[in-house]
Amino acid sequence: MPSLRLANLIDGRLVASRADRWLDVHEPATGEVFAHCPDSDADDVADAVASARRAAADWAALPIDRRARLLHRLADLVEQDLEDFAALESRDSGKPLALARSLDIPRAVSNLRYFAAAIQAWESESHATPLGRPDAGAINYTLRQPLGVVGCISPWNLPLYLFTWKIAPALAAGNTVVAKPSEVTPCTAARLAALSIEAGFPPGVLNIVQGRGPSVGQALVEHPAVKAISFTGSTATGAAIAAAAAPAFKKLSLEMGGKNPAIVFADADLSDANLDTIVRSGFANQGEICLCGSRLLVQRSIYAPFKERYLERVRRLVVGDPQDPATQLGALVSRPHFDKVMRCIAQARDEGAVVLCGGEALSLPGRCAGGWFVAPTVIEGLPNAAATNQVEIFGPVVSLIPFEDEADAVALANDSAYGLAASLWTADLSRAHRVAAALDFGIVWINCWLLRDLRTPFGGAKQSGLGREGGTEALAFFTEPKNVCIRY
Ligand code: NAD
Repeated sequence: MPSLRLANLIDGRLVASRADRWLDVHEPATGEVFAHCPDSDADDVADAVASARRAAADWAALPIDRRARLLHRLADLVEQDLEDFAALESRDSGKPLALARSLDIPRAVSNLRYFAAAIQAWESESHATPLGRPDAGAINYTLRQPLGVVGCISPWNLPLYLFTWKIAPALAAGNTVVAKPSEVTPCTAARLAALSIEAGFPPGVLNIVQGRGPSVGQALVEHPAVKAISFTGSTATGAAIAAAAAPAFKKLSLEMGGKNPAIVFADADLSDANLDTIVRSGFANQGEICLCGSRLLVQRSIYAPFKERYLERVRRLVVGDPQDPATQLGALVSRPHFDKVMRCIAQARDEGAVVLCGGEALSLPGRCAGGWFVAPTVIEGLPNAAATNQVEIFGPVVSLIPFEDEADAVALANDSAYGLAASLWTADLSRAHRVAAALDFGIVWINCWLLRDLRTPFGGAKQSGLGREGGTEALAFFTEPKNVCIRY
């Protein structure tokens, strides 16, 4: 099959990078190159930003319902092509096709539709200010105006899902966008580029520049005309972006790494369905979701029986060809990431971990013989302070840690540089509220996991994030509030 050639979207046209350089794009399930993506640089970013600047005033002035209609139209086009998008996302990222079909692409459609609707319902404030006499006062009202040109930088784990989670609120709020998908998984954003032309977005409103972080990403962050950066990715990259953006005082939204706890109390309802969710919370998308719980804290009084039931389920997980409907875990996204996860497992062993299941790479027969597969791995025996329990692995590796009581659970959960998401399992409602309030995390799920409402604030505390996405938080980020005061 001939290799797929992806394009940038600049000024409403699908183009190669100016220097005509290309990056290999691999299919993780086979290890083979199946596409080539523009290896763009600062010149391409400059072209995209110039186009976005030219388009900014007209886009900001467009009636809100016209902007919303274009986002809805794009959502409709993605939905019409859902099967193709899902196949491409699965091929590009290694995730099971069934997951791309049921989660990634439907959520991308929802992101576009949600922000198209949210911008039309968004309100701003007014404040009546008395000045001491009945006939004297002032009215303050808040204008929330678009920032101009904004940059959106997204990672590889939920490619189209997180890409649209950024561009949809940015566009809805009236900004023009220069967006950079991950060079590891560039395909679905490239396909979205073509559909945005078909949907009728004016040239320059949405630009997509493909390429590597240190070239395209950095140029975008450093470009003086880019007013804000919305980034999702690793904490190390987030820190580099924060440092580069600080001298220009750019607005920043940073969604970064995690080392999330799932906390199981002895009184939890451990029905089969709940146990399945706890397993999923560790291994969905091969553990490559920033919200996955990689530290499984279990109350000591139920530790042994819980472990047995949990392991029995993890051992049954099917790792296989992402195209096979029976597959629950596909391939890890890249060779470097596969190597990193295998190094983390070796380090866990060096630290003295007991590997209860998995712990090795898997060789699949046939088409997937060259793929990057890792067996779902459960370990125990390491203190929370061990490097394995502190460093983000971002793979199918869960570490079991016993705890004594509520205070111990909270202390262990919070003993992390990260603070993205926690889940807790208990039948005691008062305890659930108490623990939720005490956890230093941006998101807490009680007796559930990954239940999302797009109106809620989304993001992390500590080294997991700066700012929040979702709902009106995202619209607030992508606008500048201006208070106007009128005396009467
Ligand atoms: P990454 O930081 O390597 O890359 C993310 C994006 O940043 C990519 O598009 C990359 O090209 C770009 N980039 C890299 N260097 C850059 C630079 N110097 N300047 C500007 N851009 C640069 O992350 P990744 O490996 O793609 O993704 C995995 C990470 O993302 C994990 O740490 C995971 O926890 C995190 N993540 C967080 C969330 C969240 O919502 N908090 C969601 C998904 C993933």
